[in-house]
Amino acid sequence: MRNEKYLFRFVPTMMCNFNCDYCFVNKDVKKSSPTMFDVHKVDEWISAMEKFSDAEIEIYMWGGEPFLLNDIYILLREWMSMEHIIGGCRIDTNIYFADKIAELCPSSKLKLNCSYHMKYHSLEEELRKVKKLKELDMVGMVNFVASEYNIKHLQQDYRMTVFDLIKVFNEIDVF
Ligand code: SF4
Repeated sequence: MRNEKYLFRFVPTMMCNFNCDYCFVNKDVKKSSPTMFDVHKVDEWISAMEKFSDAEIEIYMWGGEPFLLNDIYILLREWMSMEHIIGGCRIDTNIYFADKIAELCPSSKLKLNCSYHMKYHSLEEELRKVKKLKELDMVGMVNFVASEYNIKHLQQDYRMTVFDLIKVFNEIDVF
């Protein structure tokens, strides 16, 4: 019986492969920043987590784009196989790497907070990726920023409002 429960917040890097206008992270920081694997290698993070096996651990990751780093896939595959890591671990991601996520670290313990950034994904591509992750039970939610650019392109490119967009995701059981 595990008595303690911890929320472990892990920010792999503030680097990101996107450069959204509304991002809170500085452009230069997104281009080049330290990572959590610069000092401690992935094996060290894996064995460090084993030391907490008498507690329940929930993980929350954000950035930057966590899946930009190859070590993240190794880390998540190992962490998610540990019994004391509980379901509902959240990761904020722009899902650019959805296919790689599905291939290298599929786990229903992970619930991804998927962001839809219109500058970088067409609606078709976003839907394809969200559906693929949903089939693996890995989607927590989809976030959409109602910025001027996004609203304009939703209207111009797809003749849709935000409510129409909500309906489209609702049809695949994603909110
Ligand atoms: S995907 Fe997220 S972290 Fe990356 S630039 Fe856009 S808002 Fe910032």
